[in-house]
Amino acid sequence: MQTPDPATTDRAPDTRATDPQAVRKVSFVSLGCPKALVDSERIVTRLRAEGYELTRTHAGADLVLVNTCGFLDSAKAESLAAIGDALAQNGKVVVTGCMGAEPEAITEKFPNVLAITGPQQYESVMEAVHRAVPPAHAPFIDLVPPQGVKLTPRHYAYLKISEGCNNRCSFCIIPKLRGDLVSRPAADVLREAEKLVAAGVKELLVISQDTSAYGVDLKYATSVWRDREVRAKFLDLSAALGELGVWVRLHYVYPYPHVDEVVPLMAEGRVLPYLDIPFQHGATSVLQRMRRPGAQEKTLQRIARWREICPDITLRSTFIVGFPGETEQEFDELLDWLDEASLDRVGCFKYEPVRGAPANDLGDAVPDEVKAERWHRFMQRQQAISARRLKRKVGSRQQVIIDEVGGTIAKGRSKADAPEIDGAVYVASRRPLRIGEIATVKIERADAYDLHGTAVGF
Ligand code: SF4
Repeated sequence: MQTPDPATTDRAPDTRATDPQAVRKVSFVSLGCPKALVDSERIVTRLRAEGYELTRTHAGADLVLVNTCGFLDSAKAESLAAIGDALAQNGKVVVTGCMGAEPEAITEKFPNVLAITGPQQYESVMEAVHRAVPPAHAPFIDLVPPQGVKLTPRHYAYLKISEGCNNRCSFCIIPKLRGDLVSRPAADVLREAEKLVAAGVKELLVISQDTSAYGVDLKYATSVWRDREVRAKFLDLSAALGELGVWVRLHYVYPYPHVDEVVPLMAEGRVLPYLDIPFQHGATSVLQRMRRPGAQEKTLQRIARWREICPDITLRSTFIVGFPGETEQEFDELLDWLDEASLDRVGCFKYEPVRGAPANDLGDAVPDEVKAERWHRFMQRQQAISARRLKRKVGSRQQVIIDEVGGTIAKGRSKADAPEIDGAVYVASRRPLRIGEIATVKIERADAYDLHGTAVGF
């Protein structure tokens, strides 16, 4: 894509730069996963704290800030396109996020970007913004609510508990981009969670690269919250979050054995009976090449045990098909494993080489048409399983958090549905429902992904 030279783009003369009282406007582009979204929220909070105003359009902004994703080649292409658009429409562009870890990939194409910083480098981002557009003289600090500025709707919020990852899955470059695991002290996380709840958040979505490894780097050190010591440990943090009286949903849980300990908390209703646990494959030989825990027979036994302890548990997972060297037999093993595991929600990716990932050295690439054909077979098989599991809910009563209202039907999610990635519950109601409200809904119908029902109890 040819990018117009910013020096020749047609822009109005910038009078704000010379007026110390004028409001500085920043147009913000947030790309990538929920973890990147949390970074965006932190940066936006800082911008607002310093008096910058956010605008929806690049034209007329004093600066465009692009938070990039660099995980897959397709995500990198999307990030580069966003940078190109920002340069074309505005000309003053600062880049941050995962792609910032390989700045040459950006500068090669766009030598005119003003600055490039890596993920979580909040200070460097703000320095770059200050250099490009100095803050207005009187920062509107009181404009910032104490819980920060959130890009998610007010009734749910992502809560990031750690950064980086100690695992070395062969298809992934996250540890290279984000480094080894660095956990936040438990009290720090809990205080942020309390502020969010005080501001009206009804659902906390716990995220990190590897949620179950939380606190390993801190040697599970304790910190003081509500006059008591809380260990920086997956189980202890989950239990403490469960005291806040809101929905707590656990994402990106790596299948370590100690994950089993958290299932009783789900059975007791202290955290949501929901585990987002990427298994990635069902064949032990493929998992070994992926450098992930491989005893899938044992994993099936563990899943069965989780369901005994907490029959309502929802299991969401992701898988990769067409990993280098994947044979037809290994793929069949995956399908068999899927039948046995009978997971509720599943995402599937066709393997895509990521520059710098060790899996590229494995050779033996699976041809694209084979990947596509396996992906379709996988999806067909899983769709039938998911639909069957969803159907079992018809006739039950479910708690549903309302995300959207309008007309006669509101849209919400049950405890089994995370925002953005899972299905929805469509709710008919005699009285108007409010966004963020948790309604009891009698489920009347299920389709492939979603449930339909009527609000009851009033
Ligand atoms: S656990 Fe996740 S983030 Fe860590 S190396 Fe594996 S895929 Fe990457």
